[in-house]
Amino acid sequence: MDPVSPLEQALHAARALVLADLVAGEVAEADVVSLVEDSVVQRRWWVQQWPDGAEYVAGLVAQDVQDALLERYGRWPLCPVCGSGDPHALDVEPELGPDPHWVCHKVGVKVASVGSLAGSLGGSPGGTASS
Ligand SMILES: [Zn+2]
Repeated sequence: MDPVSPLEQALHAARALVLADLVAGEVAEADVVSLVEDSVVQRRWWVQQWPDGAEYVAGLVAQDVQDALLERYGRWPLCPVCGSGDPHALDVEPELGPDPHWVCHKVGVKVASVGSLAGSLGGSPGGTASS
């Protein structure tokens, strides 16, 4: 038997993507990483019940971690697009679907794919997004 099932691959990928975004937001502390692990454990059960949902796992883990962080740390990830007004978090879209990405609902723009937040958060604040 293949020791790494497609479901485990999906979970592993989801974990890596969300961790990358946490690192981008500089919130990847040990207890935050454990939130990701908790979510992956729960979503492993979930995806075992519904294997067709494997490609949705990354977006779900991102939302789980976002919810968990809201209780502990506050909003994450903060919108890098809106420079003024109330700070607000980005949302995951689709909530349940493949190819999840972070969007700002305030101005209705796609900011980055889940896992690719570094290019939007890091670098040059206020600068133009190159590459
Ligand atoms: Zn915004």
